Amino acid sequence: MPIIEVKNLKKYFPVTGGVFLRRTGWVHAVDDVSFTVNKGETLGIVGESGCGKTTLGRCLMGLYDLTQGEVMVCNQRVTKLSSSQRRNLAAKLQMIFQDPFESLDPRQTVRQILEEKYRIHRQAGADLGADILKLIDQVGLLPEALLKYPHEFSGGQRQRIGIARAISMEPDIIVCDEPVSALDVSVQSKILNLLLELQKRLGLTYIFISHDLSVVRHISDRIAVMYLGKIVEIAAASSIYNQAHHPYTKALLSAIPIADPGSHKKRTILKGEVPSVENPPPGCRFNTRCEYAKNICRRTEPPLFANGKDSSHLTACHFFS
Ligand code: SF4
Repeated sequence: MPIIEVKNLKKYFPVTGGVFLRRTGWVHAVDDVSFTVNKGETLGIVGESGCGKTTLGRCLMGLYDLTQGEVMVCNQRVTKLSSSQRRNLAAKLQMIFQDPFESLDPRQTVRQILEEKYRIHRQAGADLGADILKLIDQVGLLPEALLKYPHEFSGGQRQRIGIARAISMEPDIIVCDEPVSALDVSVQSKILNLLLELQKRLGLTYIFISHDLSVVRHISDRIAVMYLGKIVEIAAASSIYNQAHHPYTKALLSAIPIADPGSHKKRTILKGEVPSVENPPPGCRFNTRCEYAKNICRRTEPPLFANGKDSSHLTACHFFS
């Protein structure tokens, strides 16, 4: 049973210009995207900067009005909620940010930061002190951390505080928006392992957004690859890594560095710039950079479809193999 259902989601932002700031166009940030996520699953969303992955995450959080389509989370539409429904949903759906420093109040101690969120959803009489001690232990920090301010921590420790704040609400789903991309590689794996451990222990569902396929691979059950506001390929993580179909996914995979110096992996260099999301190319959106593009690619947009052998591996390409 899906815990998240996204149907034909579109999110466009108006572009304004001129003296009167009239609308001159639309940024097609997310353009007709559909998928489901099951409880306890991790869906990785990957793509270059500007592909729409962060906007998609924010639509799931109910932070934007949708241009079109529907987002259901825990059987509730995330838009058009009453304020009490929104409060209830906000507890079930939390977010972890790329830069926890920006989302943590520098004037508050860690204890105050955690208490603030905790109080809103805790019942009167709950032992807040014991709960917060348990919480800080769950994310691998010592009790002394509760008395310190955010600037006294390293980047990895600050991300642990961000995670503690997210799980303090006992959510069902966490949207992780580039949670390790600002961290050193050695710290990245520790944070990813912590997220995996918490998922197992608390039965969490993750949407894991990243530009880095090697990071997404470590944590995801399934991966959706986005390009210019569209999902171009979605499949189990192992299928994406071993049998990628879409030329864009193949190019992203070829860019992952391999530790073995003897490896002769061929790297696909993508030509040209990512086209403007205000004016996406007709047909397949990847046609301006695809080495396999034919006339049909410039005319007709390929649908996302399965190749017969694996009905859960969907690709949007006229010629995938
Ligand atoms: Fe390339 Fe054409 Fe496939 Fe698009 S549809 S990825 S342009 S081959």
